[in-house]
Amino acid sequence: MRRKLAAGNWKMNGTSQSLDDLQTLSKSHPNPSVDLLICPPATLIAPAVQTLGNSAIHIGGQDCHHQTDGAHTGDISAAMLRDAGATAVILGHSERRASHHETSESVRDKARTAQRAGLMTVICLGESLGQRQATNTLDIIGAQLSLSVPDSSTGENLVVAYEPIWAIGSGMTPTPDQIGEVHDFMRSRLERRFGPGVGRSVRLLYGGSVKAANAQEIFDISNVDGALVGGASLTADDFTPIINALE
Ligand code: PEP
Repeated sequence: MRRKLAAGNWKMNGTSQSLDDLQTLSKSHPNPSVDLLICPPATLIAPAVQTLGNSAIHIGGQDCHHQTDGAHTGDISAAMLRDAGATAVILGHSERRASHHETSESVRDKARTAQRAGLMTVICLGESLGQRQATNTLDIIGAQLSLSVPDSSTGENLVVAYEPIWAIGSGMTPTPDQIGEVHDFMRSRLERRFGPGVGRSVRLLYGGSVKAANAQEIFDISNVDGALVGGASLTADDFTPIINALE
C-alpha cells in the first residue's frame, strides 16, 4: 500500500520566525499515520532540520541543479540539500518552468542527479487553462510525465504532483472527475513504463488551492495519495486540518 503524503511548498516565504510553526506542527503530529514533508526556502533547510530534531516531519528543497557541483553561481546541488538535512526536493514546479525556463528535459536531468544523491524527487506536472480548454490536458500531462521522469525512478525516490497551473494560488480547483481522470491516466502511464510493481508504488499528489474546506473531497478521489500544498502550508493552523483529512 502507498503511504499517504502531505507536502508543503513554502516557495519564497519564511524567515527564522516561521520555524515556530514547524515546531507547532511537529508537536501536534508526534507520530503521524501519513508522511509529512515541508519544503521551506533553502535558507531555512538546515535550521528547520535542527529545530525539528528527531521529528517525523521531513524537510525538502524546492529545486536543485542538474550537475553535481561546479561554477553555477546562486544554484544549489542535490548533495548540498542532503548535507543540510533535506531528504526530498520539489522539481519542475510550474513557477520554475515559467520563470526559469525549465523544460521537462532539464527537470529529468535534475531528477536523475537528485535521485542519485539519495533524495526523493517530487516532480510537478500540469496544464495551463488554455490547454485544458482546448481539451489537451492528457496529451500535455502524458508528454510532461514521460519526459520529466527519469528511468532511475522507483516507488521510493519518485512522487508525481499533478498541479494544474490555473489552480495554483487561484482558489480554483478542477472537479473531482477531472482530478480523477488525470490521476488514473498518470497511474496507467507509470505502470506501462515501469511495470505494475513500481508503477503502482509511486505516490501521486494533487496540488492547486488545496485547503481545509476541499481537502477531504480531493483525498477521496482514487489514485490521489496526498497533496502538495502552497499557501495553506505556511502556518500550522492552515496545514493541520489538511493533514488531519489525509490521516
Ligand atoms: C503550489 O504552488 O505548489 C501550490 C499548490 O500552491 P497553492 O496550494 O497555494 O495553490
